[in-house]
Amino acid sequence: MSFTTSPLPRRSCVTVRVGGIAIGGDASVVVQSMTNTDTADVAATVAQIAELARAGSELARITVNNESAAAAVPLIRDRLAAQGVTVPLIGDFHFNGHRLLTQSPACAEALAKYRINPGNVGRGKKKDEQFAAIIDIACRHDKPVRIGVNWGSLDQELAARLMDDNACLPQPQTAADVMHEAMILSALESARRAEEIGLGRDQIILSVKMSGVQDLIAVYRKLATRCDYPLHLGLTEAGMGSKGIVASTAALAVLLQEGIGDTIRVSLTPEPGGSRTQEVIVAQEILQVLGLRSFTPAVTACPGCGRTSSDYFQRLARQIQDYLRDQMPVWRDQYPGVEELKVAVMGCVVNGPGESKQANIGISLPGAGEIPVAPVYVDGEKTVTLKGETIAAEFQQLVADYVARRYG
Ligand code: SF4
Repeated sequence: MSFTTSPLPRRSCVTVRVGGIAIGGDASVVVQSMTNTDTADVAATVAQIAELARAGSELARITVNNESAAAAVPLIRDRLAAQGVTVPLIGDFHFNGHRLLTQSPACAEALAKYRINPGNVGRGKKKDEQFAAIIDIACRHDKPVRIGVNWGSLDQELAARLMDDNACLPQPQTAADVMHEAMILSALESARRAEEIGLGRDQIILSVKMSGVQDLIAVYRKLATRCDYPLHLGLTEAGMGSKGIVASTAALAVLLQEGIGDTIRVSLTPEPGGSRTQEVIVAQEILQVLGLRSFTPAVTACPGCGRTSSDYFQRLARQIQDYLRDQMPVWRDQYPGVEELKVAVMGCVVNGPGESKQANIGISLPGAGEIPVAPVYVDGEKTVTLKGETIAAEFQQLVADYVARRYG
């Protein structure tokens, strides 16, 4: 028997379709990622998008920053399609998006969504013209738009106006509150203008990304009470390694737990030479541990302690986790529901049998001083006892057999 407490129900909102992917409404929270290749380098960008898609990214955002990048977009889309990769592409535009989309209708058509940042659309009078030009192109090509406000590039005219207004109040708000309001107003006013120009309410997604965890939670909570557009969540500039993962998880988990958020991205700085797919895996794991979606079989492993006789158990846990993830591109289609599988790899008899019985299939390795045998439990019942040098290979085979039997 296992015990599960569910997160709060998702807040209802409009559904937006991006390519074949539904965002908002009753749809599951969608995982997206962003490339870090030069988009004009078609081969490198295709390879990275294909890798991200294979890891489970359901949307892929690419920088479109100059004519070469815009010209590459349709080629990238076509080469991916030739490989059977149909992940919708999102174009990320700053400063010159109006010009690139106007000059390259093939780029405008190949993209499934445009992301524009109200703080970087243009300055002064040109801002409204250039914003309108992009929205007009989105309308003509029937493309949705994410209005993505970012703390680091907030519309300075709007922020200054709100700061001045606040200073005149008898009881001024804190600077943080004013900045949150500026983020929200930038998103909502831009969305209203986009609708006035002709973009459908069901073609708008909003985001208000900040780099502080408490700021992000506060600003999204407020935004969620003031509109019913689908919301894209992400802690911007989350950072590297465990700091980036923990900060993103802390922020996104609170919001998702409250039913806020329809699509997420984890903005990790990769380690030099590290794979870009880590941001996809972390996003999936956040959703999976919250019980919102299942992507890959879960491995329960104890941390090990003084009772652990060697690092054998750590290596087995790692081997099984890697094996399950590596199999998923094939298993996903071959064995529907396999992502719900739970595997336990435990280090000794203290919690090993109990945790193994809770899993679909579990193994309890011998701790220090225990008889060197490893009982295997399947659906709560002890089935076989493994021993010797081949425990790892035999247990992996038992997992594969269980998957084929249960989900085949
Ligand atoms: S299951 Fe055993 S080895 Fe693992 S943490 Fe608990 S006591 Fe230590």
